[in-house]
Amino acid sequence: MKTRSINRFISVTGSGLYCADGDFYLDPSRPVPNAIVTHAHADHATRDSGNIYCTSPTRMLMMSRYRNKLISRFHEIGYRQTIQLGKVKLTFFSAGHMLGSCQVRMEHEGITYLYTGDFKTQPDASAEPFEAVAADVLITETTFANPDFIHPESGQEIQKIKSIDRPILIGAYVMGKAQRITRLLTEHCSDRKIFVHPEVGRFHSVYREAGMDLGDWSHYRRKEFLASDGAICIVPPSGLLRYTRHSEVYRMFATGWKNSPVSCDGILRISDHADWTELLAVINQVNPRQIFTLHGDGSHLKRHLENSAVEVHLLDR
Ligand SMILES: [Zn+2]
Ligand SMILES: [Zn+2]
Repeated sequence: MKTRSINRFISVTGSGLYCADGDFYLDPSRPVPNAIVTHAHADHATRDSGNIYCTSPTRMLMMSRYRNKLISRFHEIGYRQTIQLGKVKLTFFSAGHMLGSCQVRMEHEGITYLYTGDFKTQPDASAEPFEAVAADVLITETTFANPDFIHPESGQEIQKIKSIDRPILIGAYVMGKAQRITRLLTEHCSDRKIFVHPEVGRFHSVYREAGMDLGDWSHYRRKEFLASDGAICIVPPSGLLRYTRHSEVYRMFATGWKNSPVSCDGILRISDHADWTELLAVINQVNPRQIFTLHGDGSHLKRHLENSAVEVHLLDR
């Protein structure tokens, strides 16, 4: 197994980022004895680690995703709550990415490390707002770390719906994105009836249980949806493929990317990851000496900060 170190504090292992001084992994990709899980998306929330440290909504969403068949011991940590694992103090802060998502600040021998997990700073009424935290070392995602990616304001983007008076099918990731779209529709297109596919609805129900109000929505009823003038149905991305023969249905995909991976009639440029401007603003607020990048291409950021006092290291390459 290839292992590389960050500052002798965190190393990159075959299971993900590992901190030896605290004996824990950050968002491990396979079961480990002690896991910090920043949010419930499948690429971060691996099941069946011995101990899982996460927020309460993350536990609820994981329970629902894995249909309550989890054997881990869960430790629910609140925002701004500090725990000690080995020699490391850890504090959770909201990441603004989806309900329950957190960043983790770690303190060890006078140095602070901030692991952002997935994050965004754009307003999102279906998630806790992003919290800015100062740290010496920043470990951040770089999904959209490219000056080419500037995401429109989501409240503006959702207005695209208003000019469409046919039944609208929106493909969106079932957890996080689908709930954000529902909440945006409630706020900006309140005259539209909202249906959701069962795979989406189960996570809507968890949001409701966790006290997050998404507005009015109903489980999908085919006849009613197809007969409507402007009803909306939110489906998993693969659900968009099923309506190709219904020419009366307008099909949209919600994504931060410029192109949809699935053929459709339109894109809703709504992203749950920071764009270039958000990332630079966060770096300013964190004010780190060193940055380590994960997920995506950190090379634009490295070039951008070349003549600054901040060192950038790419972990993915
Ligand atoms: Zn995520
Ligand atoms: Zn992710």
